[in-house]
Amino acid sequence: MESGGSIFNAMLQEFDGAARLLGLDQGIWKVLTHPKRQIAVSCPIQMDNGEIEVFTGYRVQYNITLGPAKGGIRYHPNVTLDEVTALAAWMTWKCAVAHVPFGGGKGGIIVDPNRLSRRELEALTRRYIAEIVDAIGPEKDVPAPDVNTNDQIMAWVMDTYSMHVGHTATAVVTGKPIEMGGSLGRREATGRGVMIVTREAAKHLGFDIKGATVAVQGFGNVGSVSADLLAKIGAKIVAVTDWKGGVYNEKGLDIAKMIDYAKQHKTIEGFSGGEPIDNAKLFALDVDVLVPAALENQITGQNAGSIKARVIAEGANGPTTPDAHQILHDRGIFVIPDILANAGGVTTSYFEWVQDRHGLFWEESEVNHRLETKMVEAFHDVLETSIRYKTDLRTAAYIVAISRVATVTKMRGMYA
Ligand code: GLU
Repeated sequence: MESGGSIFNAMLQEFDGAARLLGLDQGIWKVLTHPKRQIAVSCPIQMDNGEIEVFTGYRVQYNITLGPAKGGIRYHPNVTLDEVTALAAWMTWKCAVAHVPFGGGKGGIIVDPNRLSRRELEALTRRYIAEIVDAIGPEKDVPAPDVNTNDQIMAWVMDTYSMHVGHTATAVVTGKPIEMGGSLGRREATGRGVMIVTREAAKHLGFDIKGATVAVQGFGNVGSVSADLLAKIGAKIVAVTDWKGGVYNEKGLDIAKMIDYAKQHKTIEGFSGGEPIDNAKLFALDVDVLVPAALENQITGQNAGSIKARVIAEGANGPTTPDAHQILHDRGIFVIPDILANAGGVTTSYFEWVQDRHGLFWEESEVNHRLETKMVEAFHDVLETSIRYKTDLRTAAYIVAISRVATVTKMRGMYA
């Protein structure tokens, strides 16, 4: 199996390729390939039926050289420490590529949140945060939403932390509701970033995004907003799949209607605007742009050969395995890697953290304008690096990230 099935090993393979090209110092190499801190906690919860269940949670602070650890919390039955560690490493490189002053972290709980009541979900969130309360904080580690978590869960995170420290600490978490220190534009930010880099890629490759065809895997916060904003700049979204089903229409799907449908049904399956389609067929569509915006390991050695898209914009973290990466590269597909393509979320999280710490909140247009500037800069930093090093965009993104973190690691020096 590719990378021995370990997502962390897949991350290391990507890292090594870039570190070699960069001629990275061996000592710094060792530092940057080890997580700083991995926390595992047990969270006992009294369920609605009176029984006690114990859930396992993790928080990994991969690197805090550039600033507080930053990264989301995911609730999923397949969460593992290996996965959370890889995701925390990816956050480190993502924050460095986006040029925001954060390190990288990630959290996860092994749970299917769809099987919990609202009360159980709140109890689990509060207990998990109570278990890691000493490790997080506005200057230490700042969680955010990720797969299956949302602004309500972030509100409970903020409240639990605040109750423990004895004062309201809005900057401990981002992706909060607007009413309690959230930022305008944060919910849409990851999808907005995907739209911006896709638009820049089309410009670079010389095709018009207006009328370009797009297929999107995943219709959560990232997939739905990416599809919506790409449609708004004139692209034609011809196919979408989610955890349950998919819809295809060569004339284009009405994404605004699909978003309403998904809100009601928790899936797009059964949406009447087209014919059913599955992931394998979606990946093989003859489209201009493919946006994988679901989970890791979706584009593999098995299906990479069937992909016909010119551009892949990785809305998800780690959707492409190392084997598949090589195949896509050999086939000349322009892959905008996760640590660049989906960096819009954490960039606006940075803006949220800044606003919370200042107690001064910006208009949505200012948030979006700043995000636009940051994403365009990051895209061009990576593109220029790929040209200078004659390499693909993923390796180039790692080169940008590693050199930024390595420079500061050397400046700070080794303690003791
Ligand atoms: N979960 C998002 C990601 O993977 C956002 C993290 C954040 O805003 O801290 O990038």
